[in-house]
Amino acid sequence: MKFYDVSMPIHESMPVYNDNSDKKPHITIERDFVDGQGVRETRLSINLHTGTHVDAPLHMIYKAATTTEFKPEDFIFRARVIDLSFVEDSITAETLKNIDIQTGDFLLFKTRNSLTDGFEKNFVFIEKSAAEYLASKKVKGIGIDSLGIERSQIGHPSHVTLLQSDCLILEGLRLKGVPSGDYVLLAAPIKIRDVEAAPVRAILVEPSWLADFLKGEFER
Ligand SMILES: [Zn+2]
Repeated sequence: MKFYDVSMPIHESMPVYNDNSDKKPHITIERDFVDGQGVRETRLSINLHTGTHVDAPLHMIYKAATTTEFKPEDFIFRARVIDLSFVEDSITAETLKNIDIQTGDFLLFKTRNSLTDGFEKNFVFIEKSAAEYLASKKVKGIGIDSLGIERSQIGHPSHVTLLQSDCLILEGLRLKGVPSGDYVLLAAPIKIRDVEAAPVRAILVEPSWLADFLKGEFER
């Protein structure tokens, strides 16, 4: 495999946080073909925390950075998929202590969440102690295969801790079938001004394939 599309498809019956029907996206065809003639135009009404998306600091911190304050190169980087499918409830500092984590790493946590397609109330989440540990390591970002990085924590301490330490957060990844290891992650959010989150088409590319591809494209 060369690429892994690790994004959720957006559609009206897709899983959303808590499966609230008012959080589901609405897709309306505003103009359409008649007898094969004409054009189609579709309107999408969506909560920006739907499906695979990036959270900017403004999500949890007053007057903090929006998604468009990041540069394009902030969304193209080396990322490591870490298999944590053995975790039953939450990722804690204890879970991470035997993993080699360096400053500047971007880590994608593959958990049992990737095996469920619907919204699972008891999804595996990043517990406060893990967020503090990751912030102390100054990781560049983290991604997880749940629609939120945390649940059942008053005041959203995992979000706040990570966003305060300029750690990018990717939620709603789909990592089923993706082997552990290093990849190039392409995850640019759509460019909407003054917002705290935005949908992303996230793609993992195998580095060896990418190197061959670049060689083939630029050295012929
Ligand atoms: Zn979010």
